Amino acid sequence: MTQCDILIKGGEVIDPSQNLRGVRDVAVFKGKIVALGESLTDYEPRHVIDACGLYVTPGLIDLHVHVYTHMPLGLNADSLCPAGGVTTMLDTGSAGSYNFAAFRRDDIDRAQTQVLGLVNLSCIGLIAYNLGELMDPRYADPEGVVRTIEEHPDVAIGVKIRAGAHIIGAGEQGRDHFLQAVSAARKSNTWLMVHIGECPMSIPDMLEHMEPGDCITHCFKGGSTRVLDDDNRVFEGVRTAAERGVIFDVGHGAGSFQWEVVEAALEQGFEPTTISTDLHRQNVHGPVYDMPATMSKFLMLGTPLERVIEMSTIGPARVLNRADELGTLKVGTVADIALLEKREGRFVFTDSYKQTRIGNELLVATATIRRGEIVPGGGGTRMRHMAEN
Ligand SMILES: [Zn+2]
Repeated sequence: MTQCDILIKGGEVIDPSQNLRGVRDVAVFKGKIVALGESLTDYEPRHVIDACGLYVTPGLIDLHVHVYTHMPLGLNADSLCPAGGVTTMLDTGSAGSYNFAAFRRDDIDRAQTQVLGLVNLSCIGLIAYNLGELMDPRYADPEGVVRTIEEHPDVAIGVKIRAGAHIIGAGEQGRDHFLQAVSAARKSNTWLMVHIGECPMSIPDMLEHMEPGDCITHCFKGGSTRVLDDDNRVFEGVRTAAERGVIFDVGHGAGSFQWEVVEAALEQGFEPTTISTDLHRQNVHGPVYDMPATMSKFLMLGTPLERVIEMSTIGPARVLNRADELGTLKVGTVADIALLEKREGRFVFTDSYKQTRIGNELLVATATIRRGEIVPGGGGTRMRHMAEN
């Protein structure tokens, strides 16, 4: 018999990084996945998780959250982990050059959950998010962004700008700020995430400056700046940008996900690269809730389950440049694992514009394993042991 810490038995493993879907056991030892097989009988585990009837996936990766707790909108990273099966999350510009070190000290380094961050072009980040962090151009600090990334290369991995005219200014001022964010990403050899709001530039215009690996978040928002033209056709420039490797991220949020837009885009064969939540204090109790609820909306819209898992695991791992270690259940990789339950019923799903749709499936995180340890909390089925009959 071989020792292991956790044996997850009988779940339906879905791991798009290996094109794998089927009933498998997973063994975890010393923080790593040590075996994945149809029936692992020669292991002596400390803990057994009965996963019959559950999906076993790589730990989910949420590419858009706000977990800087000194920021008014900030949530606690470690509570989001078991709530959503999320083992890695990217904070998108809650902090800028003046407060990233404090964010790191007080939140990133204290969290058990892996938190990475993008540095806001505004030196104050989102501390006064409601005032518009770049309405005063003196707050733009491209050199500070580059310096911050140099000082925190393990956790500060890119640049963020919220490109709304009421946030970064209209006309030339807005355009200037956008270009400063682009150049900070180039100078730091990282990538840029652009929040699209009511932008001072059109999306095709911004995309001309964006390179493979750069990202548009809130890609299914409504309003004046959309990925669709006035006839609800996906912009040609959006399609070609996606083809050349620009990332289109969901970033659901409280104001950035509209059924009409996502339905029109999917109908025309335009899928997002990654599913993410934009979770913060004002949407965590609806309409967003958590990562599995956001994924469930795509199931309702007809995206196949394997694709939805891919967009929430290996897809974002690639964006983070960590596809070798994250978003996968390959033997030898870190044991970040989500157990998801599919509940069936008639569920009301709400977009960011208070419009509803009815879906028949709701994914719920029932247990989460983070770096080889079972995380307390979540869906409450960690003690789940099903009788044979
Ligand atoms: Zn956000």
